[in-house]
Amino acid sequence: MTPRELPIYELETALVAALRGTGRVVVQAPTGSGKSTQIPQMLRTHGFLEAGEVVVLQPRRLAARMLARRVAEEVGCALGDEVGYQIRLESRISARTRVRFVTEGILLRQMSFDARLRGVSALVFDEFHERHLYGDISLARALQIQATTRPDLKIVVMSATLDAQGLAEYLAPCEILTSQGRSFPVAIEYLARAVNFEAEPVWDVAARECARLAGSTEGDFLVFLPGAYEIGRTVQALGEHRELHGCVVLPLHGELPPEAQDRAVARTSARKIIVSTNVAETSLTIDGVTVVVDAGLARQAKFDPNRGINTLLVEKISRASADQRAGRAGRTAPGRCLRLWTEREHAGRLAQELPEVRRLDLAEVVLTLKASGIDDVAGFPWLEKPDPKALARAEMLLIDLGALALEKKSAGGDGQAVITELGRRMLRFPVHPRYARMFLEAEARGCVRPVALMAALTQGRSFLQRGLPRAVDEAREEALGEETESDFFLLMRAWRFAEKASFGLDACRRLGIHAQGARAVGPLFASFLEIAEKEGLDVAERRPEAGAVAKCVLAGFSDQVARRLDGGTLRCELVHARRGFLARESAIQRAPLLVVAEVSEIGRGDGEVSTLLSLATAVEEPWLKELFPADYREERAVVYDPEMKRVITRRERRFRDLVLEARVSGDEAPLGEAALLLTREVVAGRIKIEAWDETVEQWILRVNRMAEWFPELEVNPLTDADRPTLIEQLCYGELGARAVKDKGKDEIMAVLRDWLTAEQLAVLDDYLPERLTMANGRKAKLEYAKEGPPVLSARIQELYGIEGRFTLGRGRVPVKIHVLAPNYRPIQVTDDLTSFWRDMYPTVKGELSRRYPRHEWR
Ligand code: ADP
Ligand code: MG
Repeated sequence: MTPRELPIYELETALVAALRGTGRVVVQAPTGSGKSTQIPQMLRTHGFLEAGEVVVLQPRRLAARMLARRVAEEVGCALGDEVGYQIRLESRISARTRVRFVTEGILLRQMSFDARLRGVSALVFDEFHERHLYGDISLARALQIQATTRPDLKIVVMSATLDAQGLAEYLAPCEILTSQGRSFPVAIEYLARAVNFEAEPVWDVAARECARLAGSTEGDFLVFLPGAYEIGRTVQALGEHRELHGCVVLPLHGELPPEAQDRAVARTSARKIIVSTNVAETSLTIDGVTVVVDAGLARQAKFDPNRGINTLLVEKISRASADQRAGRAGRTAPGRCLRLWTEREHAGRLAQELPEVRRLDLAEVVLTLKASGIDDVAGFPWLEKPDPKALARAEMLLIDLGALALEKKSAGGDGQAVITELGRRMLRFPVHPRYARMFLEAEARGCVRPVALMAALTQGRSFLQRGLPRAVDEAREEALGEETESDFFLLMRAWRFAEKASFGLDACRRLGIHAQGARAVGPLFASFLEIAEKEGLDVAERRPEAGAVAKCVLAGFSDQVARRLDGGTLRCELVHARRGFLARESAIQRAPLLVVAEVSEIGRGDGEVSTLLSLATAVEEPWLKELFPADYREERAVVYDPEMKRVITRRERRFRDLVLEARVSGDEAPLGEAALLLTREVVAGRIKIEAWDETVEQWILRVNRMAEWFPELEVNPLTDADRPTLIEQLCYGELGARAVKDKGKDEIMAVLRDWLTAEQLAVLDDYLPERLTMANGRKAKLEYAKEGPPVLSARIQELYGIEGRFTLGRGRVPVKIHVLAPNYRPIQVTDDLTSFWRDMYPTVKGELSRRYPRHEWR
């Protein structure tokens, strides 16, 4: 099939018309239709790229590279000439490039540096159904730019499957073009019994099943596995099956050289088994596949709350992804798909993956948005709004890192968090802001290399095993030495040791090093070094000054500074009012001040959660002042001491809200400040003023109802917001909780009465009295509430001789009457006693007089 015969060409005329019209198009067509390779070329042939390029945003680096190669070949140019790509750490573009495939934050960054997107004529958002974070956000930004500075910008959103309706509303006005494509049925099979991949590795199961299917099928195999390592093992395992000896086995993943990647999709005469990551799910089409074997796993980016960063974890794919993968078997002929899990388990899987915006840390994108002048990120036109908590967490971290600062509003109070100069410099590095901050610190201190290694070490689980036999512990200390400054330093030495031993299993086992885990650090280290080098940092090995590396850790994790509470336990207090325990296995057992790179919540036996602090580095107090001068304070503080139940003054040193040291001073606290602190305790209910009882509350209700019923008196209602002011007056002049607790009713009422003017006070008892004197001379209590009329409650005997209705306040406020039995149980609520005596009383009397014969019954 030549490219021109691909199904996508049935949409060509409509696409061109839509681009000339609204300039916004959604293209929905199945995988293999020709979206990714042909649509950029259509833009080119129809003259949309005369004045600028088309940028195609891809979720996967491997796909960006391969698509660029393929399109360059079809166009007939060298890669990097008219057609190129740009991914993190790698780019093949030139001044002549008209079609540029990009990934991740590259487009968003470009928009943040140039809101007019000069030199760009069209944007294509590919694989949009995957809902990658950068796809969502870059599209939102593109719509803003098109609506303001660039009405001529063309926007194409492409997807294999889609909730097209929701997207259409978001993009309106836009055209939706759909092509059914061509496909054949695929028969789906499951394993009859569940396999535990811990016991039988997934690669062995995959290879065995391929061998079993080989005899009963024709056409090529496509096997899905989560990553490069599992793919390597599968390629090995496939080689051991005699049934597969005639087949060519081809791995496909991002870490392979380009030639090997191309070989996986090229035509061969022999039968092929392609073993791939989920890049072959929808991003790349491989012709000739009729059998799919799916392990059902994928590496997915997720926010790891323990480490406060995004990490890649192997997860079970959703049912929607599994269906996409199965579809790859039906492109050229009817196919078969075997899922390496049971049908029963399938039903329990998620219908769809959660969009990344709901599961990733947002710090990096928030910083990029702020750099574009979008200070109100909550108000940004998100396709799907992130959790406000996730946004707040991102902003708080960026403030702690110094990348954002709260803008002071003229009216006092804090405004939006806006980007700082440091924040702009951090944006240079395409890594999480924590690492960007560490790199900047490392640049200044000449320790980029060890810091890159440290950044790599924080990405995965620790590879140092715990709870080892004593001999292993001793061997480790013998080989690696003792460590007192940072758990990182021990890890770094262990990693260097493992590297020297080529990650040999035996050498590693002797020191309790998990060889596989240690090996995984290498590529990460290399890529951090590459990023640093690309930004012109000095990555040579050199001897930094003492404490330099530890200061870089502090810069990147200052939101996790901890102070040991005492010498006897591992309890710590952290900034942002958190507490936790230092991990027992940490080597840093003596330092009073720490910065930890890992904060994990772990469930305990008793159902409580405790916070465990690990990967610790000792910190010296002067460093806090040196690195964060604005957050370090030495001052006299007036505080309420809950143990002494008194307001005291002390001299203290603080890092943000974390008290480093406090010493009680002899000075008396200023009375005003003391009153404020005591008020806070009273308002929070931690100090209770005994005499502030129901009668006081009734008085306040009477004032508030007077304000409502007699507006002409101009009484200010006494709201909850006003209470602290009154309580503060009551607390004025006191230092201790006891004095406040024992305030008398007279003192309380004196403060409350001050709320009213003399005239208002004079009519209060007249209009809305506490008690009502009735026609028979008896007094009855009135009860006031927030809503509804005042209620008079009285026993029947007290009401004898009284008729009609009651009112208060010169007849303006009707009163409800609760008629009570001799035992004070309510029998009737009425507005009018006359009707009560006439209608209800005769029955009531008969009943009650029998029960209470000794009371008077008229
Ligand atoms: P879509 O984006 O709709 O899934 P593509 O544009 O990626 O479709 O692919 C369309 C067709 O082009 C594929 O079915 C395949 O035949 C061919 N193709 C794409 N890339 C390559 C490549 N690198 N090598 C060989 N054929 C390719
Ligand atoms: Mg595609």
